[in-house]
Amino acid sequence: MLLPDRKEEATRDKRKYKTVKYNIDSKSKNKYKGKTFYLKTYGCQMNERDSETLVAMLKQLGFKEEKDYRKADFLLLNTCSIRENAHNKAFGMLGRFKHLKQTRPEIVIGLCGCMAQETSVCEELLKNYKFVNLVFGTHNLDKLPILVDKAFSSDERQIEVYSREQDLVEDLPVIRSNKYKAYVNIIYGCDKFCTYCIVPYTRGRERSRKKEDILKEVDTLVKDGYKEITVLGQNVNAYGKDLYDDYFMGELLEDIAKTGIPRIRFMTSHPWDFTDKMIEVIGKYPNIMPSVHLPVQSGSSRILKLMGRRYTRESYLELFHKMKNKIPGVSTSTDIIVGFPGEEEADFLETMSLVKECQFDNAFTFIFSKREGTPACRLEDFVPLEEKEERLQRLNEVVNYYFLENHKRLIGKTLKVLVEGISSKKNQYYGYSENNQLLNFTSQKKLKAGEIVDVMIEEAKTWSLDGRS
Ligand code: SAM
Ligand code: SF4
Repeated sequence: MLLPDRKEEATRDKRKYKTVKYNIDSKSKNKYKGKTFYLKTYGCQMNERDSETLVAMLKQLGFKEEKDYRKADFLLLNTCSIRENAHNKAFGMLGRFKHLKQTRPEIVIGLCGCMAQETSVCEELLKNYKFVNLVFGTHNLDKLPILVDKAFSSDERQIEVYSREQDLVEDLPVIRSNKYKAYVNIIYGCDKFCTYCIVPYTRGRERSRKKEDILKEVDTLVKDGYKEITVLGQNVNAYGKDLYDDYFMGELLEDIAKTGIPRIRFMTSHPWDFTDKMIEVIGKYPNIMPSVHLPVQSGSSRILKLMGRRYTRESYLELFHKMKNKIPGVSTSTDIIVGFPGEEEADFLETMSLVKECQFDNAFTFIFSKREGTPACRLEDFVPLEEKEERLQRLNEVVNYYFLENHKRLIGKTLKVLVEGISSKKNQYYGYSENNQLLNFTSQKKLKAGEIVDVMIEEAKTWSLDGRS
């Protein structure tokens, strides 16, 4: 049994890590033919991308995917720990699995991902969730074949959670959930340690993939007919800092643009590392989508300091306006936390005024959630929950107002849309514009998913646009 340790998770040193190739023992291939798995994924795009690898590894072992958890032989939750409600959802699902285990004791139940990296979660699983057979974390996902084998062949519970990053593994198998849009990891982990955030502990130190491995993956996607990639990392702008002296996110984006993939997106960008080179490259290449997610978290410099965000309201706004001026037609989205410990009404009003100034095209808004072991968890929090909820509501009214206003300006314009499919409404297609707006539209012609078409905007809604091709 190997349990995570928060202190070790927080350690950062220059310890070298190797890049190794994934390898599956030939005897394991198809060993579980006839068995089925159910996988549920919580959280961010990085977890979604990890799950695409989990699915591929399980299929190599011979498992078939089963969408109804009640019928599966192996049930796995790939979890998220960013906010408390993500925890609650996963524990709720485990509750349902418990009932199933009573009628089908032979099934194997597993939990992996960020929640597994939390000591308190592992302790809870050990004490009160004895029916969970397998627990592994974010650092040994590639060991799934061995871990599954142990879990199926032994009555002992398998709990193997490393506190520190292991080797960086390349050539991991993947079964992508979309034929035209793909996620490409470029950097793992985070070294920013924003005081509210659990990610630097659950995902470890920043480790960039080698540029050759990333470009090889993108080339393969181009050959396979993919139309869009989203370059992923907790902070993509830190790319290369741990690996190279003169090759960073701007250089990588430029090389990815040169592969000819029709659409490139990237997330998430921490404002601290957003360089002029990046702005120049995004503005220069038409296949880098003019859509930037730039989380601000708060409009108050005092709160930003308490959050450990390394920028002020003024420097954020300076970067924001520089981007708006230099990247033609750029759309912007953000993340905002309300009710951080110590946030006064005056701080909140600064967030409101920043939103009014930036007029974001999209925003993800959250109430601060206490994460055990983070510095913000120890700060005195005197704002009652009702007040935080009321602030969130006021904030959402303003952000929604700008979503709609920005959409209204597009009426009569023609946007390029990557067709994703047919929506439930008869004869309506849906897809995303270059600026990442969701469009529902009709067409005289029969369209195929993966096509990029022109759509004329006829109607604006808060969350989507209607039009015709
Ligand atoms: N790395 C990204 C950045 O720094 O901009 C953010 C990644 S995090 C998975 C996504 C968002 O979750 C954050 O931008 C933040 O708004 C939110 N978040 C993180 N920790 C939180 C917490 N303890 N309570 C509420 N929201 C949180
Ligand atoms: Fe969390 Fe901050 Fe890292 Fe983003 S940059 S993952 S908010 S610690």
